[in-house]
Amino acid sequence: MRYAVLAAWTPAGARTAVVPFVALPPDLRRGVAPLPLYAARWVQASLESMRWGILEQLAAGFARRRVARRLEQGLGRMGLEPSGVAWCDEGRLAAVVLALAGRDADDGVRRVLEGRMLLGSELVRALRRPGGDPDAARSAAEALVAAGAAERVAAVEVDESGARCQRCGGRQSVYPEPCGHCGSPFCPRCSRCAAMGVARGCEPLYAMSGPLLAAGDDGPDASATAWRLAPELVGALSPAQCRASQALRREVAAHLRGQRGGGEPVPIGTGQGPRGCVVWAVTGAGKTEVAFGAVEVALGMGGRVLMAVPRRAIAAELAERARRAFGGQTVTLLMGRGPDDRAGAGRARSSVWREEPSPLVVATTHQALRWYRAFSLVVLDEFDAFPYAGSDMLALAVERAAHPDGFRVVMSATPGEARLASARQAGWPVIHVPARHHGHPLPVPEVRVERAVRRWEQAPDDPQRVPAFVRTWLAARRPRTRVLVFCPTVALAEGVARSLGVMVCHSAHPHRERTLARFAASQDQVLVSTTLLERGVTFAGLDVLVLFADHPAVFDEATLVQMAGRAGRSAERPDGRVLFVAATASRAMRRAVEAIEAMNRRAAAEGLLRQGTTSPSTAAPDEDSPVGRGRTGRRDMV
Ligand SMILES: [Zn+2]
Ligand SMILES: [Zn+2]
Repeated sequence: MRYAVLAAWTPAGARTAVVPFVALPPDLRRGVAPLPLYAARWVQASLESMRWGILEQLAAGFARRRVARRLEQGLGRMGLEPSGVAWCDEGRLAAVVLALAGRDADDGVRRVLEGRMLLGSELVRALRRPGGDPDAARSAAEALVAAGAAERVAAVEVDESGARCQRCGGRQSVYPEPCGHCGSPFCPRCSRCAAMGVARGCEPLYAMSGPLLAAGDDGPDASATAWRLAPELVGALSPAQCRASQALRREVAAHLRGQRGGGEPVPIGTGQGPRGCVVWAVTGAGKTEVAFGAVEVALGMGGRVLMAVPRRAIAAELAERARRAFGGQTVTLLMGRGPDDRAGAGRARSSVWREEPSPLVVATTHQALRWYRAFSLVVLDEFDAFPYAGSDMLALAVERAAHPDGFRVVMSATPGEARLASARQAGWPVIHVPARHHGHPLPVPEVRVERAVRRWEQAPDDPQRVPAFVRTWLAARRPRTRVLVFCPTVALAEGVARSLGVMVCHSAHPHRERTLARFAASQDQVLVSTTLLERGVTFAGLDVLVLFADHPAVFDEATLVQMAGRAGRSAERPDGRVLFVAATASRAMRRAVEAIEAMNRRAAAEGLLRQGTTSPSTAAPDEDSPVGRGRTGRRDMV
């Protein structure tokens, strides 16, 4: 589809519209060449940013040639023929837009587009019917744009600082290329989000805001009341979960009720910015169950909810838990484009648009790129995890998927100083879940610092270099418990697994799933892993050994806390052991131990620990443990 720019001049300023070329009346088409969308949008932006003096002249009928020449020069630099500007008067412009808005009214397009951000090609695919006209979907979407119900931009737009992908926000990932679709020699395209369908300069990107809450009166409608949490799930909440869940429910209900009660929707960009809160839960606290309470509240008020997680494997498990939590209700699961999802991307892409989504959507953060102001509640779990952490693309996607007046919940066991500071600044409350679900304290890592560890690190697959205390510690565990050994890199993990003669697992491992299944089924195995298993995995009765824990680039405080958090998660064996082994004692190691101790102190002070429980490190020391106990004096806080 090609476009034209209509421009009218009034003393009040420029009025412009980008419309499909075919929608122009024949007399306006004469002498005008249709443009690819990105060029039309550039012309529109140039006209709208013109200085007041020039606008005045244009309104009086002067300077049109000069302005046209300037636009033609710009288009020439893009390798395009002039010109896409149709000069007309204001009444004519309004008439063209009105005629366009009245055409092709199609509820099918509205249904698919509401709450979404979709390329023209995705829209066509979603609405394709046998024998149907492929252009019908596009012109129906254009009608929604003309009517002001939807927005349309070029998927990649050009401005003074270059080109920018409007879907993923990428600039560095955009490069010009000869294009078979629009004929331009320099059509800009984005490589970063290309796996979701290529964003090009000549491809329209449609977006349509969804409602904050389903239309209706104050009371929840029939479909909303179906979303009730299973009573056995509510009954199984621990005291810590219960308290956090109630606090979170209150926050969400108060916010959404306030938005609904106001009558007039709050205009975008006003108010105090997006509202939300942070849930800071220790590893093994069961924060997902805490979030389900808030989900129930939002769904009960007729809202849509997105539960987003960075990784695919966790998304699938979360969707299943959500389905069970809500008594078998249908939950839409969208996956793809995680770091570990090569197989799933294609499947997720094609299956998405055939059926109406459930009001509860569970998705990887990449999938949020296809939503637009759709969700009254967005719950983002593990927000400090790869690949979400540090990705401006995914941050943009998740924020854009939330309705501007919706509520956001971000959850982690290790939120980090920066996130907490920005939450405080925005006035977001922080809700703590300081105790594990089973009410036992977190295992506090023991620390063993030995120079010999450096020698091993230099040649990890040499069995001669394995420090004796490591062998002794492992041998003491093995008769009765599984051990997960963490290494900072794939090379170290491979080497350590060889020198110890045990299994290994990392993201590039060909038999990853099989290895994990074998480990899960065993009682006495040792598995060496990279940070791949740092979170989102639970094995009952597990001890944790972190090797080369002073590795500066990979093992930061959050990662160390997460790895330690794999131990002692089951109620049957809540007292797992954790050992950090390193050649030097790093700041991150010290801070991780302190953070875990602080959480245990908080849980004890708030009366959330089970009576009679003690921190494992304050219990009688293992007679078979060679680990020094110099630090135990500091740990008897419980
Ligand atoms: Zn992009
Ligand atoms: Zn193109």
